[in-house]
Amino acid sequence: MELKTIRDIKQLSGKKVLLRVAYDVPLKPKGKGWEVADDRRILETLPTIKYLLNNKCKIVLLSWLNRPDGRVVEKYKMDPVAIRLAQILKKPVQKLNDCIGPKVFESIEKMKAGELIMLENVRFYPEEESNNKLFSKLLVHGLDLIVFDAFAQAHRVHSSTVGITKLLPTYAGLLLEKELKELSKVSSKPKRPLVVVLGGAKISDKTAVLMELIKIADKVLIGGGLANVFLKACHRPIGRSFIEDKFVDKAKRKKISSVKLVKKILKKFGAKIVLPVDMLAGNIIDAKALVEKIDFEAAQQINKNWLFLDIGPKTIANFLVEIKRAKTIFFNGPMGVFEIDQFSFGTKKIAEAIARSKAISVLGGGDTEMVIAKYKLAGKFTHVSTGGGASLEFLAGATLPALKYILKK
Ligand code: AMP
Repeated sequence: MELKTIRDIKQLSGKKVLLRVAYDVPLKPKGKGWEVADDRRILETLPTIKYLLNNKCKIVLLSWLNRPDGRVVEKYKMDPVAIRLAQILKKPVQKLNDCIGPKVFESIEKMKAGELIMLENVRFYPEEESNNKLFSKLLVHGLDLIVFDAFAQAHRVHSSTVGITKLLPTYAGLLLEKELKELSKVSSKPKRPLVVVLGGAKISDKTAVLMELIKIADKVLIGGGLANVFLKACHRPIGRSFIEDKFVDKAKRKKISSVKLVKKILKKFGAKIVLPVDMLAGNIIDAKALVEKIDFEAAQQINKNWLFLDIGPKTIANFLVEIKRAKTIFFNGPMGVFEIDQFSFGTKKIAEAIARSKAISVLGGGDTEMVIAKYKLAGKFTHVSTGGGASLEFLAGATLPALKYILKK
């Protein structure tokens, strides 16, 4: 897949650039407001911002933050993000209170070379998620071109992803380029065996791409909340464990059952899948939970009111064998509720083993970053993607919708 990139732009100097970024960053309370808790997604866009600044561009940044569902939510305003970016760049970043409208157009009109504006959260408008043509037109009003660097948001068909890229010449930023290059090490002629480690709680997102992802993998290790669907599909009782059975397949516009889909995956690709043989169960999702190990090989069963919250020691040992053999590893989603110490052991052991491995290791997803920080494993992987859903869809072979108009013809 070859994209038009900012390096392909012949005359960039002085241009008004809409820089589409994915600044969907975690926030933490500060006084009466909020501040950025983790700035990795901002730092990753610095090469592109510096490239544009060196070329004397006027930069207008656009992103969404969290899920305000089409209305203004105080907590999800972009102000803390603009403040953090200004601190990092040691340069003013003018934060506007809207992303469209006369005041925005006027501010953009007045910009001088080397200045930066950050627009308000685009998800404050319901037209964002409905990919509205008029809204998209307003978003690019007065701008010369788009530099798209929002890899983590490129799998959504929204106004500020697909909508705008139809309207102005669009080029990939340096982060988007890097993401695709690194993820291609997994999807295109990977060093084998390729081992995929999948966990986490976004069950519908993950089962939806698994049918394709499994085709390129040699082994898929299943943990986290995702394991519950597999256990259920194998007729194991799962008590009150978290499970997200029915979901809507957006492409086919119909309701799908995760359990039914997983049964199909198991039938077709069962030999590639490594499932837990034991789990840790708790009576509640809390640090004070009572914990019990359930060993399926010893025919033990979960209490019907309890929940599976981590993989067990035999499962960890089985997974470590596969990780040791791997030449390429892709890891997405924790093996348990790692935020609670009692249920963090599986995630810790698996993450540490991947960090130790000499294999090419690619990690994806917001929670993965928290795992890396918690176990102090930064710098020990080949690539840590800024996108969870986007990296999964890319590896499953999909052309991310927002990239359609950036592809070289
Ligand atoms: P994801 O965004 O899909 O990677 O999901 C991450 C979340 O999955 C984390 O907040 C974990 O606490 C959660 N998680 C992992 N395992 C389980 C489980 N067995 N039951 C419920 N939640 C889980």
